[in-house]
Amino acid sequence: MDSLARDLPLLTDLAFIGGQFRPAADGARFEVRNPATGAVLAHVADCGASDAEAAIVAAEAAFQSWRKVTAAERGKVLRRWGELMLAHQDDLALLLTREQGKPLSEARGEVAYAASFLTWFAEEARRAYGEVVPSHRADAEIVVLKEPVGVVAAITPWNFPYAMITRKVGPALAAGCSIIIKPAEDTPLCALALARLGVEAGVPAGVVNVLPTLKAPQAVGPLMASPVVRKLSFTGSTATGKLLMRQSADTVKRISLELGGNAPLIVFADADIDVAVRGTIASKFRNTGQTCVCANRILVEDAIYDRYAEALARAVAAMKVGNGEEDGVAQGPLINAGGYAKVARHVEDALAKGGTAITGGKPHDKGGLFFEPTVLTGATTDWALASEETFGPVAGLFRFHSEDEAISLANASETGLSAYFFTNDLKRAWRVARALEAGMVGINEGVISTEVAPFGGVKQSGLGREGSRHGLEEYLETKYVLFGGL
Ligand code: ADP
Repeated sequence: MDSLARDLPLLTDLAFIGGQFRPAADGARFEVRNPATGAVLAHVADCGASDAEAAIVAAEAAFQSWRKVTAAERGKVLRRWGELMLAHQDDLALLLTREQGKPLSEARGEVAYAASFLTWFAEEARRAYGEVVPSHRADAEIVVLKEPVGVVAAITPWNFPYAMITRKVGPALAAGCSIIIKPAEDTPLCALALARLGVEAGVPAGVVNVLPTLKAPQAVGPLMASPVVRKLSFTGSTATGKLLMRQSADTVKRISLELGGNAPLIVFADADIDVAVRGTIASKFRNTGQTCVCANRILVEDAIYDRYAEALARAVAAMKVGNGEEDGVAQGPLINAGGYAKVARHVEDALAKGGTAITGGKPHDKGGLFFEPTVLTGATTDWALASEETFGPVAGLFRFHSEDEAISLANASETGLSAYFFTNDLKRAWRVARALEAGMVGINEGVISTEVAPFGGVKQSGLGREGSRHGLEEYLETKYVLFGGL
C-alpha cells in the first residue's frame, strides 16, 4: 500500500458518507485487483445495509440545503471539480489503467471525457428554465417551475469508471439533487478518487456519497426500498436493469436506465473501405470491446465482403496486446474471469458453427485475462454473438445483399442502443438513419459519444437520456403553479 500510495496519490480505500471517508460499519473489506497482472491494488471498505442507511440520512440532509444554493454557485463547484480532474489527468489515468486495464492513452481520454460532463452541466445548471403559460382564465396566471427530483441513487459499471459516474453526478448536482453512488465492484478506487477531488472542489458534505461494496444487493436494497430516494440512475446489464426497475416500483422512483446494446455496424458496398475499417476498429475494439456501444454485429455487403474482411483483419492483427501501462498497447486485458469466459464461449460457438477466424481466435499467449483480437467470417444469426453482447475484442462479419436485408438484420434485436453505418450515398444515409431502431446512429464514424449529445437507447436498451440538455431533465420535476383570483 505504501509504494502504491506514492505511485497513486489519489488512491483511497474507505467509503465516503456524509463528507467523511470511513470504513464499513462492520469493518468488512474486499480486494481490488489489477486485471493485467492479478496484483492486489487495495482492500476497500465493503459497505452493507447500515452504511447505505447512513448515506440516505446524509444525502437527505444535504439535499435540503444544496437545493437552495443558487444554480450559479452549484455550477462553480462542478466547474472546479471538472478542472481538478484535468489537473490530475495523469494520476487519474494511471489509477484507471491499473484498476480497469484500458491502455493509458484511452484512460487519459476517459478522464477528459468524464470531466466534460462536470463542466457541461456546470453551464446547464443555469438553464433549468421554467415557463409562463398563457392562462385559460382572465383572473389567473400559470407558471411552470423546474425543481430537483431529490436524493438520487446511481449504480454504475466498471467499463468507464469515471465517465459513467460524472454523467450522472453532473446533472444531479446541477439540478440541486444529492446523490449516493454505488460503483462497480471491479472499480471502486476510481469512484473514490473522484470523491476526493469533489471535496477539494467544494462539494458540501452529504451531497455526494460513495458506497463501495462487493455485496451489491445488500448495499443497494435500502436505497431501492427508501421513499427518500426519489430517483434511480443505472448503467449496466439489461438483466440487472430490469431487476432494479421492478424494485423501483414500490416507491415509484423516477428511473433512467442505460442498459446493454448489440450494436449493428453496416458497411455498404459504396462505402470508403479505409474509413469503414478505421470506424470499425474504433467502435469494436475501444476498451478491448468492452463498451455498450461497441459494434457487436458487423454487416457487410456481399460485393465488398472479402476486401473489407482482409483489410479489417490486417488492422486488427497489427494491434499490440498487453498491460495498458506499456507504450503502444492498444488492447488491454478483459476485466475479469466472467468477461473472459464469455468471449471464449462466443468464439468457440462461432467456430463450431462453421465460422473462420481470419485473425486471432484463441486465448493470447500472455495468458491471464488476455484474449487475441479476433475477426470471424461467415457469421450467421444462430451464433451466440448475433443475439448476445460479446463485450470483448471479437468482430463477427455477417454478409448481406440489399439495403432492406441489412436493415432487417440490424433491427433483429431486443436492444437498440447505438448503430453505425458506412456509405457515400446521401439519400441512403438519410433512409437508413431513419430506419434503424436505435437511440444513437453514427454515419461514417465509429465513436459518437460526447457530452453535448443525448446518449441513450430504445427497446430494451433503456429509458431516458444522459448528457446534453436532455440529461438535466432526468433530474428535474415539473411543478405547475396557478395564481388565482387576480
Ligand atoms: P456488468 O455485466 O456490466 O457487470 P451489472 O449489471 O452486473 O453489469 O453491473 C452493473 C452495476 O450493477 C454494478 O455496479 C453492479 O455491482 C450492480 N449490480 C449488479 N447486480 C445488482 C443487484 N442485484 N442489485 C443492485 N446492483 C447490482
